[in-house]
Amino acid sequence: MYLILLGSPGTGKGTQANILADRFSWLHVSTGDMLREAVTAGTELGKAAKSYMDQGALVPDNVVIGMLVERINRPDAEAGFVLDGFPRNLAQAIALDEALRQQGKSIDVVLNIVVPEEDLLKRLTGRWLCPNCGEIYHSQSRPPKQAGVCDKCGTQLIQRDDDKPETVKARLEKQRTPDNLLAHFRDQKKLKDVDGQQAVDKVTADLLGAIEGSK
Ligand code: AMP
Repeated sequence: MYLILLGSPGTGKGTQANILADRFSWLHVSTGDMLREAVTAGTELGKAAKSYMDQGALVPDNVVIGMLVERINRPDAEAGFVLDGFPRNLAQAIALDEALRQQGKSIDVVLNIVVPEEDLLKRLTGRWLCPNCGEIYHSQSRPPKQAGVCDKCGTQLIQRDDDKPETVKARLEKQRTPDNLLAHFRDQKKLKDVDGQQAVDKVTADLLGAIEGSK
């Protein structure tokens, strides 16, 4: 099967894509991972992508589409794949449809992991770290015994710039799934929403149910 997973940063999309790909021996294709690897390797593609990624902006379609199409045309994608982070806009979705169509294939189902934005903000801004010993806390899932103070060494905890509410809000804004992309998949009758405000296992179970229901 050929799947797309949609969901904002912080919805657990990458984790779920991994779980599904492992379970069915599908290829997990994360365009974010591919771009980060290209940046680290210093390739031409990485150089073209870096400044956009640093700003939390989307990398131009002409860079990303070619990279993605080349990847899913390789033999190890034949049996099935889960796309994680692609498509991000309508132009990418149309290019993907066309590339698959040329091979007599099509996307089977688009799973959208939905978490309300207030909840995402809480998840993504909850991380605090100790500048002295490096211990990491989360105000929801791993709070320190005394608010703002490291359990291990008593140092005042700090928040990384990336995790501050203003930065996170701006990132969520830039990375929100566009309405016309959702409408595109809804029109194709492929879009299935899954509640992302549940334990990881329960989200996986719902995704599996949605996959089963689409066969
Ligand atoms: P991610 O790991 O999916 O959050 O992606 C990290 C960054 O890579 C994003 O903030 C974008 O700059 C870039 N990126 C990943 N996938 C795409 C895509 N499909 N289109 C454009 N930019 C992308």
